[in-house]
Amino acid sequence: MHLHLGIRGLVRRFVFTASCLLVLTALDATAQNSNHERREWNAPIPPFRIVGNVYYVGAHGISSFLIASSGGLIVLDGGFPETAPLIERNIRALGFRVGDIKYLLNSHAHYDHCGGLARLKRDSGAQLLASALDSETLNTGHQLSYGPGQLEAHFPRVHVDRTIADGQQVSLGTTVLTAYLTPGHTKGCTTWTTPVVENGITHHVVFYCSTTVAGNQLVNNAKYPNIVGDYEASFARLRKLPCDVFLGPHPSFFHMDDKLKRRKAGQRDAFIDPSELARFVEESQRDFKLELARQSAP
Ligand SMILES: [Zn+2]
Repeated sequence: MHLHLGIRGLVRRFVFTASCLLVLTALDATAQNSNHERREWNAPIPPFRIVGNVYYVGAHGISSFLIASSGGLIVLDGGFPETAPLIERNIRALGFRVGDIKYLLNSHAHYDHCGGLARLKRDSGAQLLASALDSETLNTGHQLSYGPGQLEAHFPRVHVDRTIADGQQVSLGTTVLTAYLTPGHTKGCTTWTTPVVENGITHHVVFYCSTTVAGNQLVNNAKYPNIVGDYEASFARLRKLPCDVFLGPHPSFFHMDDKLKRRKAGQRDAFIDPSELARFVEESQRDFKLELARQSAP
């Protein structure tokens, strides 16, 4: 992990990281805030089954999902570099073997979601499948900045074995995942879906990539000229996906803590909510439009 020393670098790192979730309000954050935020996101939590054969194996603030098929395991997202050992521990705690991971997938090539993939790949021997447009970042371990609020970040590079096209399916045993390219947050942002069966009922699970602006420059972005069109197409597309179980790269996206509490209190279907995706897209698009207006203002 390439550490950026100096307050300015640390502040920018904090702003980028936090902005996956929050608007850019933390410009006066200190170096301590940065480390604190990152440590908080990486706090361990016990792994658990979400629905069907889909498990949560991530940390408190950064997601990683395990899909256990009859033909082996699939892991979606690797967290920060330091999240990977925790993900591996969680996989073992559920009774699975890291060596049984056949495929590694990535929602998007930001270092808080792909930084741990190199270690997961090394320890499992799994193949990494990713969109062509996020593959360059993964292959080089170099995350470019797409706006003044973003940091150029470095993370352990990880070789993409096979690129995934829009609509492409990945099958393992009886499990089938479908990739939907939903660019904007990154150029190759990929939303994955899979149907799972529980008690004879099929539930459509959506692993939402992200549609936050996260410091991206929306106006006159020479490195990403079609960024606004991409976001808008992604919003239109995402709201049409069938979704009973809404999941995302940060647990806060899908109110994980709240659902776990409700489940503990006896609501067994706390993670099933067919209206959640539409609500999330609507809110995210509203935030996007506000940010676009702000950046477009003279
Ligand atoms: Zn991100």
